[in-house]
Amino acid sequence: MSFDYDLIVIGGGSGGVRAARMAASYGAKVVVVEEYRVGGTCVIRGCVPKKLYVYASRFKDQFDVASSFGWQVDASFDWPTLVAAKEKEITRLEHAYTSNLQKPGVEIVKDRARLTGPNSVQIIGQNRELTARYILVATGGHPFIPDIPGAELAITSNEAFDLPALPHSILIEGGGYIAVEFATIFAGLGVNTTIVYRGDRLLRGFDEDMRIGLEAGLEERGIRLIYGSTITALSHAGDDISATFSNGVTAPYGAVMFATGRTPNTQGLGLEEAGVKLAGNGAIVVDAYSQSSVPSIYAVGDVTGRVALTPVAIREGWYFAETLFNNNRQAVDYGLIPTAVFSEPELGVIGLSETEAAGKCDIDVYLTRFRPMINTLSSRTERMIIKLITEKDEGKVLGCHILGPGAGEMIQLVAIPMGMNATKADFDRAMAVHPSAAEELVTFKAPSYRYRKGEKIGG
Ligand code: NDP
Repeated sequence: MSFDYDLIVIGGGSGGVRAARMAASYGAKVVVVEEYRVGGTCVIRGCVPKKLYVYASRFKDQFDVASSFGWQVDASFDWPTLVAAKEKEITRLEHAYTSNLQKPGVEIVKDRARLTGPNSVQIIGQNRELTARYILVATGGHPFIPDIPGAELAITSNEAFDLPALPHSILIEGGGYIAVEFATIFAGLGVNTTIVYRGDRLLRGFDEDMRIGLEAGLEERGIRLIYGSTITALSHAGDDISATFSNGVTAPYGAVMFATGRTPNTQGLGLEEAGVKLAGNGAIVVDAYSQSSVPSIYAVGDVTGRVALTPVAIREGWYFAETLFNNNRQAVDYGLIPTAVFSEPELGVIGLSETEAAGKCDIDVYLTRFRPMINTLSSRTERMIIKLITEKDEGKVLGCHILGPGAGEMIQLVAIPMGMNATKADFDRAMAVHPSAAEELVTFKAPSYRYRKGEKIGG
């Protein structure tokens, strides 16, 4: 049977673009169908603009400590300048992504697509059908919005980047990556910021010491934390929005933002009609090679509900192309994924938390808390926290957790030895870089405490 293309990719985000580029570089005839801007969530309204805004917000801390080094800074901030500069940069990246697709010969169709069968896709706006040997769904996800009265008054991370003006105050609901990162952005830019979270501490699932340290860092920056509560209704209150909480209390805010997770983009794609199996949360069910229940249809990235991180989507897209177009069957290893929360303080994590590790085997825990050198001349008391968790017998490093300046950069490098099954002795063999925060990783002497048969000893 002949097809128009070897591969149709629906969605021009991180996973789809990587898969399309790689497949084309292996000689496949590829088309990417994207209804919005090439680059996807990460480039257009996710990681990239977020990190730019994180940089913008961090000047506040830097100005605060500058006087301890003899600088006098008279600073003011202009939101429209940041929004315009961000827009210029993501437009540049969008063009770069587009030309990176075009170089190996990938065709781009700017339209919405819908599956009409295992090998066919309707291009809705142009009302034409394309066929391909394989179809890759890489449509990402969108913010989940709780179903409460007045929910339409709130923003999500989609809108936060392009607000016409900074609000005087903001209430952010959620306790995950987006809530924490945007709270530090807004607070750093001078917005009176509150987080409301249904749980008892932010970043559920992360190492407890990091969660406690992060909480203290947020509070030190004036962010108010409300735990054990949710927003049950929103309504207009003059120029503000009045939020009602689950305990019945109401309070006005300049803006309200939901950061309550993300939902896979599988609605209206014709997936069910094409026979593609979906999980309860709407994600496409795939095997280790990203193949769906329909053999010719694959899916990568957030739409599969596996691990919603850009580098993971990119790896899935790459291995999809290896498997199908380079005769090199590859499955992504999800075992050891480093991750960073670009909050202030910043958090970098890889491997098991203390609780997870102690539940698996006997472990030694190396823990240090210290004032980052940048703060030592000022009155700031905030501590940086570094924790290394090792297995008792061989000393294999099972987890590394870093809270403080540069944590994201450091954890990327720790991922290399950990991926090679490094032990504490391997870390110790490395010569320290002095003075640095990272040298703590290679200069731990005795464990701070241990776990034997799940029981904590010492510490
Ligand atoms: P997360 O899953 O990280 O957090 C969602 C938060 O919303 C949780 O605290 C959750 O509570 C809470 N929540 C969920 N449903 C409700 C509800 N109905 N009412 C009240 N609270 C609710 O999602 P995010 O939106 O923060 O981010 C989405 C994903 O994007 C992340 O998981 C991450 O994979 C990725 N991301 C990565 C970043 C990075 O690498 N730096 C940055 C931003 C996003 P509970 O804890 O109780 O479940």
